[in-house]
Amino acid sequence: MLDLTLHLKPGALTVGLDPVRVYSFDAEGRPFHALRHGKTYKRGLDHRFMVLWREVQEDESVRRRRFLSPAEARDLVATLHQDLRREVLPNLHRAALRVTPGPGVPKAGPPPNLWPRLAEAPQPLQQAVQETLHRILERDETWLAEDARRFREIYSPLGILPPDQYLALVLQVTQGCHWNQCLFCDLYTRIPFRIRPLPEVLQHLEAVLRFFGRALPLRKSVFLADANALMLPERRATELLEHLAPRIRQAMPWSRGFFSFLDVFTGERHPVAYWQRLAHLGLRRLYIGLESAHEPLIRWLNKPETREGAWHLLLRLKEAGLSVGVIVLVGAGGHRFREPHFQDTVAFLRAFPRWEPRDIVYLSPFVPPEKPEYHERVRADRIRPLTETEIRREIRRFQQALHDLPPRVTLYNIQDFLY
Ligand code: SF4
Repeated sequence: MLDLTLHLKPGALTVGLDPVRVYSFDAEGRPFHALRHGKTYKRGLDHRFMVLWREVQEDESVRRRRFLSPAEARDLVATLHQDLRREVLPNLHRAALRVTPGPGVPKAGPPPNLWPRLAEAPQPLQQAVQETLHRILERDETWLAEDARRFREIYSPLGILPPDQYLALVLQVTQGCHWNQCLFCDLYTRIPFRIRPLPEVLQHLEAVLRFFGRALPLRKSVFLADANALMLPERRATELLEHLAPRIRQAMPWSRGFFSFLDVFTGERHPVAYWQRLAHLGLRRLYIGLESAHEPLIRWLNKPETREGAWHLLLRLKEAGLSVGVIVLVGAGGHRFREPHFQDTVAFLRAFPRWEPRDIVYLSPFVPPEKPEYHERVRADRIRPLTETEIRREIRRFQQALHDLPPRVTLYNIQDFLY
């Protein structure tokens, strides 16, 4: 007996076949998330699939992940489509329908927007569900591979996004990282740094909007990439937002605004008035890679920032009315730095006077980079890296030490990233 549920929402449709099989597709028919028998599958727009599951290690439930091989990815898409064909389409009329109103979704009437059977829902909603399902089934392997090719034409490889921005509309206003020398980071080592001229960014925006198409309402915000897009000179950044903001308001009136990474060493030179101007143009939150407030560790990591610089930057951003996401690298520097990193960073975060509940502190478990310099340095300095178990223990220590701060304290695992 099937327990079919459908959830039609702006830019997406989720189909629940039963409690252990729940599949989500964007409104263009691309699969992007699936739960199957205790495993989670995510598809990136470049057509890579990641599978995540939990396993018990030393009495702890630990999250694991890996990318699927192309053959496994093909099988997965075929399985999702087969389940829809065999189990959903023939029983569609008796599936329960939930609707989240919004752009791209036909008007559903007053809440609760819930129908025990699709057949009882207003005709435009039934039609929207049927059309989306048929579109999903048309998106076979060939279509998805071609779609990924178009994606790679529009975007150069994306290094990383903060976890709450995985569903942002990414605009690459710069490419790569202008510093690219932090010891722990290999996200942009193969990408030459470049500031894109404004006309090129505006063309990129149009290509991105076309690419997302009907699925655009799934994108709730605009993320200015790559590593530190706001390293731009003030006049250039202001001009950029002045051009982007009206077009985004028109194309995505639901957007929550602009978000971006910011490094302390480029952000600290700007006055409050500059940040206020950008906030006025729609900038909402900046994600700061603090990594640590223990100065010797920051130097060891070769990040050209200081604790004092970070403090003043955060104060200015808060004074300008912006939200901040502060990223702490847990496990960096191994045993040598474990205790002073914890003590100084917790003291810094607890002493900061301007936190608001809309701010976020991210705890990012350290992942050794594929960079020979890092491994040479570890050997030369006789650093003993923390094990995975030890890093998990450190994360718990940070969580306990920060749990009563106004910002949400949350995990930021760079290995989970897929756009
Ligand atoms: S951590 Fe940030 S500043 Fe450092 S190399 Fe990586 S992207 Fe660049």
